[in-house]
Amino acid sequence: MSSLPATVPFVDLSAQHDALQAEMFEAMQAVLQRGDYVLGQAVTDFEAAFAQASAMPYGIGVACGTDAIALGLQACGIGPEDEVILPANTFVATLIGVLRCGAKPVLVDCDPLTGLIDLVAVEHVITPSTRAIIPVHLYGQMVSPSQLLTLADTYGLIIFEDAAQAHLAEREGYKAGSIGTASAFSFYPSKNLGALGDGGIVLTRDEAVAAQLRALRNYGAPRKYYHTEIGTNSRLDSIQAAILNVKLPHLGIWNQTRHEIAEQYNILLSPFKAQGIIPLQNQADTGHVYHLYTVRILSGEDGNPAPISREVLQERLTAAGVETGIHYPLPCHLQPAFAGLGYRAGDFPVAEQMSQEILSLPMYPGLTEAQINQVVGALTDAIETPMPMQLSA
Ligand SMILES: *Cc1c(COP(=O)(O)O)cnc(C)c1O
Repeated sequence: MSSLPATVPFVDLSAQHDALQAEMFEAMQAVLQRGDYVLGQAVTDFEAAFAQASAMPYGIGVACGTDAIALGLQACGIGPEDEVILPANTFVATLIGVLRCGAKPVLVDCDPLTGLIDLVAVEHVITPSTRAIIPVHLYGQMVSPSQLLTLADTYGLIIFEDAAQAHLAEREGYKAGSIGTASAFSFYPSKNLGALGDGGIVLTRDEAVAAQLRALRNYGAPRKYYHTEIGTNSRLDSIQAAILNVKLPHLGIWNQTRHEIAEQYNILLSPFKAQGIIPLQNQADTGHVYHLYTVRILSGEDGNPAPISREVLQERLTAAGVETGIHYPLPCHLQPAFAGLGYRAGDFPVAEQMSQEILSLPMYPGLTEAQINQVVGALTDAIETPMPMQLSA
């Protein structure tokens, strides 16, 4: 009888939750006692603390990251008639946010080394109608702030960052979310800073944008029962904010732990580079907060193919008890929901190829050295086992 190998989960929040359980219960109990369930003290406290930690003056808590993008863009005055540039290689929520504010999304390809937006490609799609660019700090690595600021300055663009995967990331002395006019974060449970449900925040340096957001998230009412526009109901719950207040002081250490795990992976995986298994490049040094640790399994499109396909590697890792993910398997422009935008296969060749080649390995604070070794051991076994024979007729 063979026993199944111990599983290495893709994400496991129990380590951080176990350690903070008593504090989290206490914080939730305080909300219960105060009874300020909606826009209460915990929300005000968290907005101030997260904005300060991210080096921005104003924070406005909303219901989720998608709302943070949609409402944040709207508060920046972006809407119909405006074009907004964003990467094809992102989670669909970035695109949904642009569409919800009424603007026209303009997608661009990504850099094959990092998966981040290709800023050279951005310059080629700028028109007189371009109002904003959304750099997505994907996988935990910021897009270069200096290059973004030069671009925005040259063409008069608003920078609105999607920092949903990059809480407290840094690059060139900038914190994620502090480069431009405003930025959006998500507190979905598995993000680097996660609530026990949905949550989000917009950070801004502009007092008028902040005021506009406070109204927009609250039925468009700058004061009670007085509505200056058609807003919505999108608020960060007090109970979620209470949880986030407990977790925020630990975020720096958690990010550092993620970074150390990534360095372990980098060292252990370096022998596989020659075989076409290549981690995405870190260009932000210690400022990369590794929301995800993603490698490319080269398919042979450019250069030597890996001895195994991404699909077979993923299957074998699963069989060995190692959970992996693909972020993301189908780029935004090829999703059926957005067919109306008129993009087609072949429009963003790098994003399309990467979607076939990328694989994200287990990554979370609490992942042990033994687990890291199990992941790399399983990967080694998978590569050394010959691919199933293709029978010819
Ligand atoms: C998670 C995520 C979002 C959306 O956040 P939600 O809170 O799930 O709405 C947006 N953009 C990116 C890049 C994300 O990873």
